[in-house]
This record gives sequence, structure tokens and C-alpha cells, in this order.
Amino acid sequence: MGLKIYLNGQILPQEDAKISVFDHGLLYGDGVFEGIRAYNGKIFMLQQHMDRLYDSAKAIALTIPITKDEMAEAIKKTMSANNLTDSYIRLVVTRGVGKLGLDPNKCVTPQIIIITDTIELYSKALYENGLDIVTVTTIRNHFSALDPKIKSLNYLNNILAKLESLEAGAGEALMLNKDGYVAECAGDNIFIFKDNVLLTPPASAGILIGITRNVVMDLAVKLGMQVKEYLMTRYDVYIADECFLTGTAAEIIPVVKIDGRVIGNGKPGKVTLELLKGYRDLTRTGN
Ligand SMILES: *Cc1c(COP(=O)(O)O)cnc(C)c1O
Repeated sequence: MGLKIYLNGQILPQEDAKISVFDHGLLYGDGVFEGIRAYNGKIFMLQQHMDRLYDSAKAIALTIPITKDEMAEAIKKTMSANNLTDSYIRLVVTRGVGKLGLDPNKCVTPQIIIITDTIELYSKALYENGLDIVTVTTIRNHFSALDPKIKSLNYLNNILAKLESLEAGAGEALMLNKDGYVAECAGDNIFIFKDNVLLTPPASAGILIGITRNVVMDLAVKLGMQVKEYLMTRYDVYIADECFLTGTAAEIIPVVKIDGRVIGNGKPGKVTLELLKGYRDLTRTGN
């Protein structure tokens, strides 16, 4: 089915939504992006996504030519052009057309692309039965090289990790940082629950600061749980009572096996399911 795509202020049929082969987003992965969801016509955590997009852009010295409000309007316009109320929104800002050399200053106009579609990252059965994940040998980018806080189009680090997990027949790739601490998964943040405390790696582990991660931490506090950022090793993950991953597309997905070690009783944990329910309530009632 043909979608309507937003490209630099215009809404176009998907077959007409094209950008140049000289775009540095394509040539070098030079650009930033966001994955956002709308539930019942309302864009979930809109302000947080706008802030992160513009912060990512600032970090790579890319000036987005429209304001956050204009960007939000553009998303809404694209959703209604596609008659979508529940949607996965992919927002991409590239450096724009330049020369074959690296120099980003030769790129004049950033390209703004908005795709609104639906997504089902994991099957319903996986939410009920849980994921099997593996630790991969590809470490997460070191922040001195490319800070994982930047949600950039340069996604090869994550893709190489994902390839390893697919090769192993697993549902996601657990990535460590250069010191061997648990960072995050290829496209999701990780949480464990152990001895009545909900734990997730801190920003200093070198991770993308997920908006879902933050929502889940707030939700857990509201539900009376103890929540801590904790620098964890694979040992901590193996002996966890529960484990789950978070991300805009995945929402909250239980993990039941890591590197062949069964987590808890091998079924999605009680706390995981409680948070999943809380998250679903929140997304369906607004924020
Ligand atoms: C986008 C992303 C996440 C999840 O972030 P959300 O804001 O919750 O969608 C986690 N890790 C990586 C590497 C990501 O790119």
C-alpha cells in the first residue's frame, strides 16, 4: 500500500519521495533520527522526542531548519495524510546534498523526512513467552568515538551487533561497553529485576538514553518499586530474577534466556508484566 511521505515541507506519494544520491545521510550516515509512536491520535512523549532530536542534531553541528513546533505539526500532517491514529513515526534529518568529500559544510540543506506507518517489531507470542537474547562480541561505540547518546543515522555499530544475534538465532543482541559492562541491546535498553530492585545501566555505561527507559523508570517509582541505575556485568544479568528490554517500537518485551541461561523461571516475570500493563495503560490514556 502506498504511503504518503513528508519530505521538506511537502507531502508526497512514497514513489515520489526521493532524495539525492549525493546526500551525506546516504554517503556517510551523516544525520540523526527519531522513532516515535502515536496512540489514539496522540503522539506519545512528543516533547521528549523533539528535545532528543534537536540535541542529537546539535551534537553533530547540524542545524535543523525548522522549529520543534513546526516539526511536530509536520508529523501530525503526515499522520493525517495517511489516516493514521496509531502509528510508528520515523523522523530522519540528513546533512543534505554535498560533495563526495567528507566536509559537512559543503552540504547546504538538511533533508527532513517523515514516514508514518505501523510496526510490529516482535510477534504477540514473544510478548507472552519472552525473548532469547545473546551477548555479542561487537562492543557498543565508545563515547569518545561516537557518543551513543546521539541517535544518529550512523547505525553500523548496532547493525553489526544485530547480525551476530541473528546468526545465533537470538531475538536481540546484548552489547557490552569497552570495559565489559552491560550497555544496552542493539536497538533497545535493558532492565533487570533482582531482590526487589529494578536496575538499568546508567548513562555512563555509554547508552542511548531511551525515552521508554525513562518512562518505565518513572512508572516503576509510581508503582512503589525501588529503581536504581547500576553498572552491571553479564553475571548480574544471568542471575537476575527478571529481565526485559524497552524501546519505542518494542515497548516492553520480556527476556527469558540470555546466553543459554534461563532467567527466573523461564517465563516473563511478574514485575515485567506489571510494568507492561502500566505502560500500555499510560500510552492509551495519554501522558
Ligand atoms: C532508539 C534507541 C533505543 C530506545 O530508545 P527509545 O527512546 O525508548 O525508543 C535504545 N537503544 C538504541 C541504540 C536506540 O537507537
